[in-house]
Amino acid sequence: MPELPEVEITARLLDAALSGAEVESALAPGVNALRSFDPPLAAIDGQRFLWVHRRGKLFVLELDGGLSLLVHLMSAGRLQLFDSRASLRDRTSRLLARLTDGRELRLREFGTRQRAWVKLLRTGELDDDETLAALGPEAWPDPPPLLELLDQPRPLHALLRDQQVIAGIGRSWVDEILHTARLSPFKRGSDLEADEADRLREAITRRLGEAIAHYQQTIVLPIPDKLPMPLTVHRRNGEPCPRCGDQLEAVFYEDYVMCYCPTCQTEGKVLKDRRLSRLLK
Ligand SMILES: [Zn+2]
Repeated sequence: MPELPEVEITARLLDAALSGAEVESALAPGVNALRSFDPPLAAIDGQRFLWVHRRGKLFVLELDGGLSLLVHLMSAGRLQLFDSRASLRDRTSRLLARLTDGRELRLREFGTRQRAWVKLLRTGELDDDETLAALGPEAWPDPPPLLELLDQPRPLHALLRDQQVIAGIGRSWVDEILHTARLSPFKRGSDLEADEADRLREAITRRLGEAIAHYQQTIVLPIPDKLPMPLTVHRRNGEPCPRCGDQLEAVFYEDYVMCYCPTCQTEGKVLKDRRLSRLLK
């Protein structure tokens, strides 16, 4: 599941590799992948890439003709740059941009659902896009003070993953960040003390920054299909806590799992596993 660090490293690598490259033609084989119709996708034929960057978990690929591709990988997408063209039988392809130098930029999606999307927008109108306009402040490199930002009676685990509150964190990194900050995933944002808010902000910048630095050393183009994330808590339930050695626990939800250390984060309390308790009813 690509979050801020994975999108950031991909954007950096693509920016370095694509700058000045000219689009020969583009097509969107994914049924629902292209979410805009004006201008048409063919409008980028003959345009050169100027700048690839990140907003939250989205990519912005600016082209020299005043157009930009906005790309959201959702939970299973990858934006990859290959030296040759895809087989037309590659069912993972959602968008293909063929370059005049023979390379090909591909939005691919792994898994059963087709949720990754692309919009072609006028660069000057990017700020009007509803997804971008709704994003909260960036989680990295310099998030705002959190005491006010998170002053809502919702659990930290939900608040930090809410892109409209703070942009870039998802289901994997939230577990790591809360563990580093020694905060319960169920603590309400409005109950944060000033020192806890500072600790949380520090944990966000540190963990995301460390992940990006790790990827800078390990990830190369075309961007691997499977991108191993340097996680120490998320999906490590049953294993020893990297800080105190006690066993990490998990709460399972329908489509994600929340992992934490009872000793470090919840005063020793093991939170109810909703999946198990539902089955036992
Ligand atoms: Zn621990």
